[in-house]
Amino acid sequence: DPIQENYVRNVRNCIFSVVYPTPFKSKVLLVAVSEDVIENTLDLHISVQGTSDFLQFVSGGKVILGSVPLAHRYGGHQFGSWAGQLGDGRAHLIGVYTNRHGERWELQLKGSGKTPYSRNGDGRAVLRSSVREFLCSEAMHYLGIPTSRAASLVVSDDEVWRDQFYNGNIKKERGAIVLRLAKSWFRIGSLEILAHSGELDLQRRLLDFIIQEHFPLIAVNDSDRYLEFFSTVVSETANLIALWMSVGFAHGVCNTDNFSLLSITIDYGPFGFMDSYDPNFVPNTSDDEGRYKIGNQANVGLFNLNKLLQALKPLLDPRQKQLFTELFRAKLGLLGDDEDDNYLIAFLLKLMEDRRADFTMTFRELSEITEDQLKELHIPEEFWALQDLGKHKLFSEWVSMYLLRLEHNKGDTDIKRRKRMTAVNPRYVLRNWMAESAVQKANLNDFSEVHLLQQILQHPFRRQEAAEKAGYSLRPPAWAKDLKVSCSS
Ligand code: AMP
Ligand code: MG
Ligand code: MG
Repeated sequence: DPIQENYVRNVRNCIFSVVYPTPFKSKVLLVAVSEDVIENTLDLHISVQGTSDFLQFVSGGKVILGSVPLAHRYGGHQFGSWAGQLGDGRAHLIGVYTNRHGERWELQLKGSGKTPYSRNGDGRAVLRSSVREFLCSEAMHYLGIPTSRAASLVVSDDEVWRDQFYNGNIKKERGAIVLRLAKSWFRIGSLEILAHSGELDLQRRLLDFIIQEHFPLIAVNDSDRYLEFFSTVVSETANLIALWMSVGFAHGVCNTDNFSLLSITIDYGPFGFMDSYDPNFVPNTSDDEGRYKIGNQANVGLFNLNKLLQALKPLLDPRQKQLFTELFRAKLGLLGDDEDDNYLIAFLLKLMEDRRADFTMTFRELSEITEDQLKELHIPEEFWALQDLGKHKLFSEWVSMYLLRLEHNKGDTDIKRRKRMTAVNPRYVLRNWMAESAVQKANLNDFSEVHLLQQILQHPFRRQEAAEKAGYSLRPPAWAKDLKVSCSS
């Protein structure tokens, strides 16, 4: 029985609180929409983006008839410690939509005002972090990585004050709202909070609901259902993290409240795509100890699953390593499995680490270079990442091993190899400098680079003239080296 009480507080014995979005006071501008989401997920004609109703709905100014907006109560382990109640502090679930494909999508506004879970926050999100979430969640979808989606992004002139780097320098920014979608927004922290406060009946009800709605392969009256649920989440989360690693993505804040029970990527904050390959890459400046550095995500995933386990119990069986090997085999165009494949992969990663080689372009250029060119160690000028890597004294040794291994590919040709590899090694990822450049323009109400990136990242594996012209496959510009992203958003 929902009771509408919006003040910030500790909430007990419920999973959601009814709370309405807070409309912006000043004028709202539509920054971008995802045509694919509007048309294929929401069954709307793209022309709705021009209507004032649409602008009202996606900015929290109006709720859809029949909608009971909710904020979700969850807890979580943040940077290793139990943080107590967290919850949707600036997000509103505005409805569930079943589309013409029979898919059920939960629509959520992010940045739409205070809820009972806002703690010390203002319930708002700034434009820079909203541009990043909008672009990156869509980009991840087109990379083939399970993720929440984004339908729209709006900005208003409402003032939002942020200390971007926690250095006492508070700046005025603009409030923005993303309309984002997921099959479910439940997180590990959704179950944890109920376990921590001993609300076990409610926990059981929630878990049964989640299993019934989202885990069709698990029978709801199976006595082993929680065990099956857990082992599914374990293997799917392991898959997700391996996929992140395979494109050099670091989430940045792998707290249990940001880990989806459906094992999709959610809550884009200070994430980063690695430029130079570095297993110690930490995208988040607030992460002083490097807890969530890219090479540590598998361990952290295990930590999080272990917390889920503590909230549930049973057995742990991560098939992580195997999938990691499979994904990197594919990135190198290897067919079948040789026992030395792990060595070949690790050897390359070591060279990349030593040379701080570009992660994305090293694999991409290996997908584009011909076997003959490799044989002669003739690296064309435009393959700048391989040119860098080629300066390593062991590079030729690795190349020999690689070429030898390619001979074990049954029924392969060099054209087929390059085709396979270009289909799994993206040419374009949302590098921090690219997002930053788009944000700087968006701050001046020039949304052209947001749109350009949005278009290009829909085809991350396909070479595109506009992207080449913008330098998106080139070495990151010098100013990008000092770019920092923090949790403050
Ligand atoms: P995050 O680090 O973004 O995953 O957020 C952790 C928790 O802080 C979640 O409960 C968020 O809803 C909440 N939170 C983050 N920013 C704000 C904000 N500006 N206002 C209210 N709550 C926030
Ligand atoms: Mg979060
Ligand atoms: Mg967040």
